[in-house]
Amino acid sequence: MHDYDAIVIGAGNAGLTAAATLQRAGARTLLVERHNVPGGCGTSFRRGRFEFEVALHQLSGVGVEGQPISLREGLFQQLGIADRLEFVQEHDLYRAVVPGRLDVTIPADWDAAIDVLDAEFPGSRDRVARFFELIKQVAFWQIAAMRGMPAEQIDPVLFRYGLRPLQQVLDEYFDDDRIKVALAVYWTYLGQPPSKLRFQDLALTLFAYFEFKPWHVRGGSQAMSAAILDSFRQAGGQARFNTGVEAILTAGGRVLGVRLEDGVEVTAPEVVSNASLPTTYAMLDGIAVPAAVRNDLATRRIGVSGFVLHMGLDATPAELGFTTSTTFVNRDTDDDRTYQAWKSFEPARGICVSSYDVAPIGFAPAGTTHVSLMTLQYADIWKNVAPVEYARIKFAFAETLLELCEAVTPGIRDAIEEVDVATPLTMMRYLGHPGGSIYGYDQDATEGWLFRNSERETHVPGLHVAGSWSGMGGFQPTLEAGARVARRLLRTKAA
Ligand SMILES: Cc1cc2nc3c(=O)[nH]c(=O)nc-3n(C[C@H](O)[C@H](O)[C@H](O)COP(=O)(O)OP(=O)(O)OC[C@H]3O[C@@H](n4cnc5c(N)ncnc54)[C@H](O)[C@@H]3O)c2cc1C
Repeated sequence: MHDYDAIVIGAGNAGLTAAATLQRAGARTLLVERHNVPGGCGTSFRRGRFEFEVALHQLSGVGVEGQPISLREGLFQQLGIADRLEFVQEHDLYRAVVPGRLDVTIPADWDAAIDVLDAEFPGSRDRVARFFELIKQVAFWQIAAMRGMPAEQIDPVLFRYGLRPLQQVLDEYFDDDRIKVALAVYWTYLGQPPSKLRFQDLALTLFAYFEFKPWHVRGGSQAMSAAILDSFRQAGGQARFNTGVEAILTAGGRVLGVRLEDGVEVTAPEVVSNASLPTTYAMLDGIAVPAAVRNDLATRRIGVSGFVLHMGLDATPAELGFTTSTTFVNRDTDDDRTYQAWKSFEPARGICVSSYDVAPIGFAPAGTTHVSLMTLQYADIWKNVAPVEYARIKFAFAETLLELCEAVTPGIRDAIEEVDVATPLTMMRYLGHPGGSIYGYDQDATEGWLFRNSERETHVPGLHVAGSWSGMGGFQPTLEAGARVARRLLRTKAA
């Protein structure tokens, strides 16, 4: 007799939804998390009178009421938390700024976005409309393919465009670099520049935000993580925080349970890991890493991490000049150079500015604003920083983000009351992931559901993986992945 039916390692998005789905289906589940709060990336922390959102800039897939395939009426309903969460809608996708060259705000509506772009780039209406139609088609058929529709029933548009580099498709439709930035600036959410990113990835991202709108959660992503944890606990699930798993135990070639960092062993026939794939397979005890997995992992590249300047500002969004929740500011239109800069301490060349009080999420005291400035960075350069130099370098680099932000909010510096800076080393420390990666492996053309099946096949009976390392990174994909993996596990057990 096992102690539990299933053990879930890690309480990030996918760990939480996996645990809640399993427990609510009647599987006795233990959730083990090294950190002291649930959420992984989806957490918040306090400085002075401010609470800072760690990761959630825009939640995709929530959907307006009446869209049954949205998170709101799908997953959150199934977990019994749809009514408990309060979603705050952003009415614009973003404002895209290249100082002196571009300043355009894209509404979260296909037709309104065409009007705005045609006004900004006269004569572009037809091309933007055709581009949006292509986005819809490629996203639609990609979702169908991901859900198992046979290839012969899929429209050829997916095969013609899906895997082409985003840059090629942009170049086919547009001449002006500025409109390409205005339409493709979400590439930073995916961690690969347009020259490397598959068109289908941007198509899915834009489709998710246009169709289901961008949202925040009142109380931040921490409120969402806490709600999923409550759903798990109310169904009888047990969670242990401040508890790391150090080994995945096996016997007779299959999973037997886990050994916690305090040496305690807990048994279960099924283990779902939300830790990174390298960490998960390194924890296997009593069994060699299967050759298929070893070969697969050897060909993958650890993805990008993040650098964030969190600020509590003693001024309202209007006083600071914020008109949208999300603003991208790029020094120029050279995205390949911006991507290269993520591997150096060159001053930040592109930032995502999140102003959480344009549509307030409830963290900032009245009359104040909570803003984060984020750029992506690979961890390697940070690993070589001497401890004695760390604080100086991180604040000097943060200064470069602030300088870029001043292009849209000239007075922001004077309003700063609290700051905190997170580097790739911070991500490594809190998530335990190699390279502090926030999206798992690099999401370039060789990655993704078409070429990799890490989530479907671990080659170790009883071991399951869910999260950004075995699928797509980001909130919506990982929330969905945990529930999907749990449902697959339950189906297999029932068969
Ligand atoms: C600063 C930042 C900004 C971001 N912005 C966005 C955004 O705007 N939109 C978006 O969609 N995505 C964004 N992301 C990415 C997104 O948050 C992540 O891709 C997603 O949350 C990852 O979820 P996950 O399920 O893979 O688990 P993770 O969040 O990676 O959590 C894994 C959990 O496993 C735990 N763990 C690991 N090893 C062990 C062990 N041995 N024992 C016990 N516990 C263990 C860790 O402590 C952690 O809690 C951002 C991320 C960051 C950090």
